[in-house]
This record gives sequence, C-alpha cells and structure tokens, in this order.
Amino acid sequence: MSDEIQIEDLPGVGPATAEKLREAGYTTLLAIAVESPKNLSDLADIGDAVAVKVIAAAKKAADLGNFETGDIVMERRQNIGKLTTMSKAFDSLMGGGIETQAITEMFGEFGSGKTQIAHQCAVSVQLPVEEGGLDGDVIIIDTENTFRPERITQMAEALDLDPTKVLKRIHVARAFNSHHQMLLADKAKETAEDLNVRLLIVDSLTSHFRAEYIGRGALADRQQKLNKHMHDLLRFGDLNNAAIIVTNQVSSKPDAFFGDPTRPIGGHIVGHTATFRLYLRKSKGGKRIARLIDSPNLPEGEAVVTIDVKGVRD
Ligand code: ADP
Ligand code: MG
Repeated sequence: MSDEIQIEDLPGVGPATAEKLREAGYTTLLAIAVESPKNLSDLADIGDAVAVKVIAAAKKAADLGNFETGDIVMERRQNIGKLTTMSKAFDSLMGGGIETQAITEMFGEFGSGKTQIAHQCAVSVQLPVEEGGLDGDVIIIDTENTFRPERITQMAEALDLDPTKVLKRIHVARAFNSHHQMLLADKAKETAEDLNVRLLIVDSLTSHFRAEYIGRGALADRQQKLNKHMHDLLRFGDLNNAAIIVTNQVSSKPDAFFGDPTRPIGGHIVGHTATFRLYLRKSKGGKRIARLIDSPNLPEGEAVVTIDVKGVRD
C-alpha cells in the first residue's frame, strides 16, 4: 500500500481537500478520475476549478484498468455462480438461478413481491452450493426501511436453518438519501474485504433518486448519478463474484421524462446497466408472475411463484 499514490499526493490537494474528498466517499484515485467535475465539486464541497485540476491529476495517477484477453474474461465467467430463489420455475427462467457478476433488476408495482424475493435470496445465498446457495454473506442497502429480521427468521426456519446464524450473515444499512445510498455502495466494498459476500441487495434502487430529483431540469443529473451508482454495483459484483439484486418501482404518476405508467424508473440508464430485468406482477390467489424481459443470453419468458410464510416457492 505504502508506495501507492494517495489522494494527498495529487498536485494541488492539501490535507483539508483530501479529507473532504474522503468524507464524500472518494477514497481512491480511480473514483476521482472517473467523476465529473460538477459532481466532485458538489459532493466534496470543493471549488469547480479545484475539481477540474484534481480530476486531471487523478486520471494521470490512477490505474485506469487495462484491456484483457478473451481467455481471461472466459476464466472469470467460468466462476459465475447461480443463486437459487427457492422456486424451480424462477430459477430456470434465469437459466439456473440469479447470476453473480451481474445486476438483476426486479421491477413492479407496490406489493408485487420485490422485497419478499430479496429477503428470500438473503437467506438462500447462505445455503451450501449443493443446495443452490453460494455459502456466502449478504449486504443489504435498505432505502425504504422494509428489511424485517422477523421475516428472515420465518424463511430460515422453513429451511431448517438457525435464524440467529442466518441473521448474523446479513449486513444491513439504511440509506437516508441517494447520496448516502451511493456512499454505502462504496462502504460495501470495505465490508466485503473481511467477509465472503456473495450477494448485494439494493432495495429500492430508485426511490430516493426519484423523490429527490424532481422535474425535467434535474433529470440529467439524476441519470448521471444513477449511472455511476449502477457501475459501482457492477464493479462490486465483479470484484466479489457476487450477485447484485436491485429493485425498482414502476411509476404510477407520469415521470418528467418517462411518462409511460408501466415503465420502470430510471429509464434507459438503469435498463441498460442491469444485466437481467424482471417484471413482477400480482396474480390470482397470492401468486406472483415474474417475466424476464431483457437478458444477454436467455429467452424471454415467465415463471409463476407463490409467496407464503415459508418464503418464495413454486
Ligand atoms: P414490494 O414489491 O412492494 O417490495 P413486497 O415484497 O413487500 O412488495 O410484497 C408484499 C406482499 O408479500 C404482501 O402483500 C404479502 O402478500 C406478501 N407477504 C409478506 N409477508 C408475508 C408473510 N409472512 N407470509 C405470506 N405472505 C407475505
Ligand atoms: Mg419493497
């Protein structure tokens, strides 16, 4: 670590600026190098001119990554894990389960089962690989205060797991606003250093962004932040060979830009960055229908699941 260039080493960055940058979540040169001057000056509370200089210096100093050959990419892809949802139909819709190194977006209206499925995966990821799990811990960024340990307990008991042990492997943080949410995605990287985190859940991805960035004027800014956030999450998935599940609501009121009421929030930014998109809707008798609408290598299709006291099942 010691011979690596630190934020303080950048020309024009004193201890005070370095502190501001760190506090705003810019803990690495790369994070600064890929940021826009406006975001950096807003979020770190530094002047525009300073932001431009700092970013230029970070670009020179940061390891921006390299091209890698196809065989290396292939090797990484061979490590992709698949996480069971506890429904065979749902798993086969996803080609065997929810993939690691990818973002799976679940969108649907209120009550369509997004949070329930996320809870179920927080339990099933802890199962051994032979049983469809990844024998891993999970990090949850909870933006709507809907994480319920009691619900986890029910689901753990249904699988004959010790609820206390299961709860100890779930690391939850509430995000109070979109900026906090983005900082927590950064914090997740640190948390994952000492743990075997195989699943990261952001429930909901978009609610804070939607509430905070209102109207057409705020749209570009919102999309830019969401884009950065999604890429941070993808990176987390690659680094930890973890599955990323994000939830998203469909807008019931016309949005500033994406006015269609059945469209998920976040428009093309979220849509293009998510690897898998699932549309959830309620059906008769407490059943839920999951429809896979976008995937790089799987056909479109639907799965019917039930949600009951045990959790998600066929
Ligand atoms: P959202 O898509 O808004 O996140 P949820 O995942 O919170 O929706 O789904 C809520 C629904 O899940 C409830 O309306 C209920 O049908 C079902 N549900 C929640 N808890 C239980 C439970 N303990 N037993 C059975 N069904 C449950
Ligand atoms: Mg929910």
